[in-house]
Amino acid sequence: MELSDAYIASFISERDELLVEMENFAKQHHVPIMQLAGIESLNQLLRIQKPKAILEIGTAIGYSALRMAKALPDCQIVTIERDESRVQYAKEFIARSEAANSIQIIEGDALEVEMEKLPTTFDAVFIDAAKGQYMKFFEKYSPLVPSGGVLYIDNMYMHGLSNLDIKEVPRRKRTMIRNLKTFSDWIMSHPDYTSAFFPVGDGLLICLKR
Ligand code: SAH
Ligand code: MG
Repeated sequence: MELSDAYIASFISERDELLVEMENFAKQHHVPIMQLAGIESLNQLLRIQKPKAILEIGTAIGYSALRMAKALPDCQIVTIERDESRVQYAKEFIARSEAANSIQIIEGDALEVEMEKLPTTFDAVFIDAAKGQYMKFFEKYSPLVPSGGVLYIDNMYMHGLSNLDIKEVPRRKRTMIRNLKTFSDWIMSHPDYTSAFFPVGDGLLICLKR
C-alpha cells in the first residue's frame, strides 16, 4: 500500500522564508530542485555520516546546497553548475543566507572543471546533474572520496522513466535511460562500493566506498 501524501508531509520539517522563496522560485521557473522527502532523507544520512566537505554536482539555484549547509553547520560545500543564470540566482540566494561562508559555487561543466581547482578529498559527493552522464561524473569524482566516504546519487527514478520498458520511453530520452541502467548495473556489482537504493523522492542511490 502507498503511504498517503498527507502522512509523508506530516514528517517534513518547517523551512524558513528564504527556503520557501527558493521553492516557489523553482516551481515558477521549472527548476528541478530535490523533492522535500528526498532532501530530508539525504540530510539525515549526512547528519549521521558527518562529512567535513561535500562536493555537489548540479547546484541549480543553490537549494540543496543550502539545505545541506543548514543541516551540517561545520561542513564546507563546493558545488558545480554550468548554467550561468542559475549560478547567478544561486549566488544571490546563498548570499542572503547565514551559510554564505560555507558554500563555494564553481561555474562550469563538471566534466571539464580542472581537478586542481578542488580540494583533494570530499567525504561526500552528491551527484544531481545531467542524468545521462552519471557514470562520467562518478568516474571523475569518486577518486576524491576516501575509503568510508559516500557518493549520493539523485533521480534514479528519472521521474518514473527508469521504471518503464525501454520501448515505452520517449525516443529522445532512451539514451539517457540506457546510460542510467548501465551505470546502476555497474555500480551495484562494483567491488569497491556497497550500494543501496532508497526509493524516496525521485530515487536516491547511496554508494559507500569500502
Ligand atoms: N541539486 C539541485 C538541483 C540540480 S538540477 C537542488 O536539488 O537544489 C540539475 C542541475 O545540474 C541543472 O541546473 C543543470 O544545469 C546542472 N548540470 C547538468 N549537467 C551539468 C554538468 N555537466 N556540469 C555542471 N552542471 C550541470
Ligand atoms: Mg535531483
